[in-house]
Amino acid sequence: MANQNGGELNPFKIAQKQLDKAAAVLGLDPAIHAFLREPLRELHVTLPVKMDDGSTKIFKGFRVQYNDARGPTKGGIRFHSQETIDTVRALAAWMTWKCAVVDIPLGGGKGGVVCNPKEMSPGELERLSRAYIRQVGRILGLEKDVPAPDVYTTPQIMAWMADEYAFLKGHNEFGVITGKPLELGGSQGRGDATARGGMITIREAAKVLGIDTQGATMAIQGFGNAGQYAATLGIELLGLKIVAVSDSKGGIYNPDGLDPDDVIKHKRETGSVINYPGAKPVSNEEILELPVDILAPSALENQITARNADRIRPKIVSELANGPTTLEGDDAFYKNGVYVLPDFLCNAGGVTVSYFEMVQNAYDYYWDLPTVHERLDIKMTTAYHAVHETAQRFEIDMRTAAYVIAVDRVATAVRLRGWV
Ligand code: NAD
Repeated sequence: MANQNGGELNPFKIAQKQLDKAAAVLGLDPAIHAFLREPLRELHVTLPVKMDDGSTKIFKGFRVQYNDARGPTKGGIRFHSQETIDTVRALAAWMTWKCAVVDIPLGGGKGGVVCNPKEMSPGELERLSRAYIRQVGRILGLEKDVPAPDVYTTPQIMAWMADEYAFLKGHNEFGVITGKPLELGGSQGRGDATARGGMITIREAAKVLGIDTQGATMAIQGFGNAGQYAATLGIELLGLKIVAVSDSKGGIYNPDGLDPDDVIKHKRETGSVINYPGAKPVSNEEILELPVDILAPSALENQITARNADRIRPKIVSELANGPTTLEGDDAFYKNGVYVLPDFLCNAGGVTVSYFEMVQNAYDYYWDLPTVHERLDIKMTTAYHAVHETAQRFEIDMRTAAYVIAVDRVATAVRLRGWV
């Protein structure tokens, strides 16, 4: 798919071109480069699900195992009406680079089902979740591929999936799915891990850039798991002022600051952040262009493109969403001096604590919350500084720097295993 300005909006093509940029910096072996441009394997499934009205509906699902050179593939499952195989491929590629940049011993995968969960009852969602695992379960496993939540999938959905997998295997194997409820082998700290990791990268970037985060303003596009915790933790950990948030129905803006807990309550009661009292309405396009210090795209791909990137001028863009910025968007940010915390670095806190969850499940021994927070902080801080220093050394943008580190690690594993 190409956009009106001739730019590319197919997330997988974008992911491949991002890799190409890093390959050029690294002088990557052409065969390894060609190998890393494609997923290792993928499964397409067709899922019949009994609906509440007695009819049977047929859903399409996917699981992509992009690369497992460094360990079992890992990546969330997304339930979305616009899901495509190329989106899942891109997300699986980004998971590969994400696990490598924070240096956890996992590869990259991703899953998706084309469905609209907002129009489905809990019973229908449960039957869909179980149907997905009945088909995809054959390629999952502790040593093979470990899913987790993503957009519109929840700890409850992970619990149904883990339960269905237990029936397939004939015994409990909780580590095969992460993001589970605590009572079923979930980890302390997984709920807010993505946003917490993002806040740690903002904290470190602010130190490097000489920005005082106390009172610095932040706008958040997307107010789900990542966006809501970014709002509350942004205040708690960094003293930020949250001035705007949005969800799929639209956004709200108050330059004097919003109370995130109260906005969360309003969203819970009404289904959206819109019509929140004491704030001006803004669209999902306008929220990106507000005069703020930090912009946190926390919804979906392709929000910052050739069309609007020149007008988006925060000091820092912290990409909690995967793939919010196209190649043209990146070029504009680099030209305009906008500092980008690229997605697979900024939002790596989620998979890092998912990895901690796998470790705890394997040992059947559970850590307390301070331990999880401390270990997450070390991983994110180390990864951030490695990326920043690489960007400085090669005089490249932060995304390409993150790729240089991640691709080098995966390429080394591929070479050592003798694959190429
Ligand atoms: P979620 O389902 O909890 O929330 C998604 C939010 O985005 C909802 O508030 C929804 O209303 C909003 N939204 C949907 N379409 C929108 C649009 N067009 N404009 C504005 N808002 C829109 O999902 P999440 O887990 O918070 O994931 C959000 C992003 O973060 C995704 O890109 C996801 O891949 C990424 N991510 C999530 C995790 C995680 O652990 N949950 C980890 C890494 C990356």
